[in-house]
Amino acid sequence: MKILDGKKVSNDIKNEIAEVVSQMKENGEKVPHLAAVLVGNDGASLTYVGSKVRSCKRIGFESTLIHLPSETTEAALLKEVEALNNNDAIDGYIVQLPLPKHIDEEKVLMAVHPDKDVDGFHPTNFGKMALDMESFIPATPYGIMELLRRYDVDTQGKHTVVIGRSHIVGRPISILMSQKGKAANSTVTLTHSRTKDLEVFTKDADIIVSALGVPDFLKGDMVKEGVVIIDVGITRVPDDTKEKGYYITGDVDFAQVSPKASYITPVPGGVGPMTIAMLLKNTLLARERHNNRKNA
Ligand code: NAD
Repeated sequence: MKILDGKKVSNDIKNEIAEVVSQMKENGEKVPHLAAVLVGNDGASLTYVGSKVRSCKRIGFESTLIHLPSETTEAALLKEVEALNNNDAIDGYIVQLPLPKHIDEEKVLMAVHPDKDVDGFHPTNFGKMALDMESFIPATPYGIMELLRRYDVDTQGKHTVVIGRSHIVGRPISILMSQKGKAANSTVTLTHSRTKDLEVFTKDADIIVSALGVPDFLKGDMVKEGVVIIDVGITRVPDDTKEKGYYITGDVDFAQVSPKASYITPVPGGVGPMTIAMLLKNTLLARERHNNRKNA
């Protein structure tokens, strides 16, 4: 069993980006600038955004955090989004989800200019991704692909079973892994909460990407020997013995599944850190495309 070490690979990617940025600085070029919009004080969102801003600093990006109160109206948020679209200094930005219930998430994500949509959530980018055109690939599936590529995991002709059909993980990874190319060319089955006899699929799978958010859902008797496991799930389980009052766990029962797996991602330290690294990669791409448009 080999660990797919997302912490290590994400650090490698950040170092590679940092080198490009230091070259940009040396050439007197503008460095990438990522902005994040956070509405309210959701604990997990504060942690995620804080981590994204710290990563920007570490690799030499500029970053801006726009932290708005939870009572911000939809109209006020849309104004903020419009301002970011028109701000030439910002190369890319994200609107941290979830948004408070009184704000229509879809409306806000649709308002983000596709050229600055480094989360890859806008329909223009999603459509282009599905058509194999230049786009911004959502950071989590992009991170999974990069992890598989860098560990040279053989995916060609393999049966990949994806659990979960969300717009940000399950659905895009099912598209990416069925496309042509490295870490792809897979035969993909997309399963979800209405799938009958899930085990029939998971037991046949060469690769399983689990993105449902149920701790220890995937058990040892649901997988075959040699399976490749990508555990996307992140659940905070309350635990008074921990300093933070919770611990983080994935969808996979690691103790049961890992002895049967050829490769497996740990949680934490697997897909999570890759997601941030690929958001930074998308921001670098946004900067480069911005330049190319100007010089065209
Ligand atoms: P979601 O929460 O929007 O949806 C869950 C999906 O799981 C649904 O499509 C549903 O059909 C499916 N599902 C639920 N119960 C099922 C069952 N019994 N059998 C089969 N399918 C079932 O999904 P999401 O936003 O992709 O999040 C999934 C998990 O991944 C969460 O734990 C989330 O925190 C985590 N996540 C991690 C990262 C990361 O960077 N590692 C990024 C995004 C999401």
